[in-house]
Amino acid sequence: MGGREATMVLLDENGIRCDGRKVDEPRRIMIRAGGLKNADGSAYIEFGDNKILVGVFGPRDVHPKHMSDTDTGILRVRYHMEPFSVGERKNPAPSRREIEISKVIKEALEPAVMLEKFPRTAVDVFIEVLQADGGTRCAALTAASVALADAGIPMRDMVAAIAAGKVADTVILDVNNEEDQAGQADMPIGYMPSLEKVTLMQLDGVLTPEEYKKCVEVGIEGCKLVYDLQKKALNDKYFGNGDN
Ligand code: UDP
Repeated sequence: MGGREATMVLLDENGIRCDGRKVDEPRRIMIRAGGLKNADGSAYIEFGDNKILVGVFGPRDVHPKHMSDTDTGILRVRYHMEPFSVGERKNPAPSRREIEISKVIKEALEPAVMLEKFPRTAVDVFIEVLQADGGTRCAALTAASVALADAGIPMRDMVAAIAAGKVADTVILDVNNEEDQAGQADMPIGYMPSLEKVTLMQLDGVLTPEEYKKCVEVGIEGCKLVYDLQKKALNDKYFGNGDN
């Protein structure tokens, strides 16, 4: 939250945001299930200007062996940003931020995946951010859920994710990079709509208790929209024209 609002109009007098959206309008979202021949499951997502590819491998043997668990399978997640994915070239070495986001996405996916069905094995999720524009953890989590389903991993539900936030003292849905940098709050939410369970919630910024409630409400409604697109992506692959 950079507090640079004075120099940037994040919300104009007609309630229109810096990229032309209304306060409750998500960016354009396109999800494709499949696409990677060598992965057990995969998905590609465009979430506004975010472009992210996810490959899932497993369940498979765990190396090194001591990392395996005799009672359950384990989920391993690697979130990686390409150096060219952002305006100012990102150092290719794994950053603290990438390590944190990998952990956050893993923990958000774990309640959805029936790992107990695969003791001693691992399911690996590789996330490649090709282009980033704010909200990559939500877009990546959304695509990872589709890729896991595409891999045939038994799941309790899919996790759909989107961020709510605040700009110009107003609650908004789906925070873009400019809004993230110059706005007042960013709240990524991951939600399993069929189970009505939140598996990811973070907050950067300051909200009143009322704004907090509104963000949760708006975020969960947004997740339901994302969920419909996740199901559509799987339907298109498995019951559509079958070209992916
Ligand atoms: N970003 C960047 N360079 C970096 C890391 C992030 O330009 O090294 C941008 C990128 O557009 C990202 C945004 O900052 O989407 C917000 O990053 P944040 O850590 O809040 O995670 P995200 O919103 O992507 O989940």
